[in-house]
Amino acid sequence: MEILRLPVLSDNYIFLLHDPNQKIGAVVDPAEVRPVLEKLEFLGAELVTIFNTHHHPDHVGANRQLIQKFPQLKVYGGVEDRGRIPGQQVFLREGDRVQFADRVAEVLFVPGHTSGHIAYYFPSVALGEIGELFCGDTLFAGGCGHLFEGTPAQMVESLSKLRNLPNNTRVWCAHEYTLKNLQFAMTVDKDNADLQSRFAEVKAARSRNEATVPSMIGVEKRTNPFLRWEQPALQLAVQSQDPVETFARLRRKKDQF
Ligand code: ZN
Ligand code: FE
Repeated sequence: MEILRLPVLSDNYIFLLHDPNQKIGAVVDPAEVRPVLEKLEFLGAELVTIFNTHHHPDHVGANRQLIQKFPQLKVYGGVEDRGRIPGQQVFLREGDRVQFADRVAEVLFVPGHTSGHIAYYFPSVALGEIGELFCGDTLFAGGCGHLFEGTPAQMVESLSKLRNLPNNTRVWCAHEYTLKNLQFAMTVDKDNADLQSRFAEVKAARSRNEATVPSMIGVEKRTNPFLRWEQPALQLAVQSQDPVETFARLRRKKDQF
């Protein structure tokens, strides 16, 4: 399975999963139709699946037009998003398994950004190889999604699931927000040496206009303040000793950043 990253809108990424043998593709969160069709045509591949993580327009915007173009394709989304994802045919729950080409993904229910948000996790196929996580707007490189439809406690539980994945899991999040996220991270965790060096790398990458997605779970665990609610430095930064309250205060601080 190849994964191609298509930058769309101002800062969204669509991910195109491609199996060159069967000449088929799947898209995660298609915001726009044209870049997807162009890439499929270039690859000579047929679109068989849309994997949606949640109902926001910048994630489902191209569903209808893609279904028109490929009437056989299947649209997957979370069961809690019933009625909110255009063309949805498959209603997924935590622990369900979905297939693309020769890979099987596990569905994780990760509410918080929205009440029906799910993530797709493709474990590594062999020991020591990498896994792939498509997490929409739940976990970002260096940050996490806004709490539009969920509570801090819910989001902490959701992010805990993602944090528990193996370190060598690639994090394919749906927006290029990394630089801004790390600028904020530096205000609450500035003595973290891993964060300092990551911040420098990301600044350099963005100045060359390079993408910073995918990230890795291991890197996120060491540098993303929204996975570090137990760390004394972060608890001190927001004056709380309770993990969920620490997370809530960090999230609020970021909203105002
Ligand atoms: Zn969203
Ligand atoms: Fe989004």
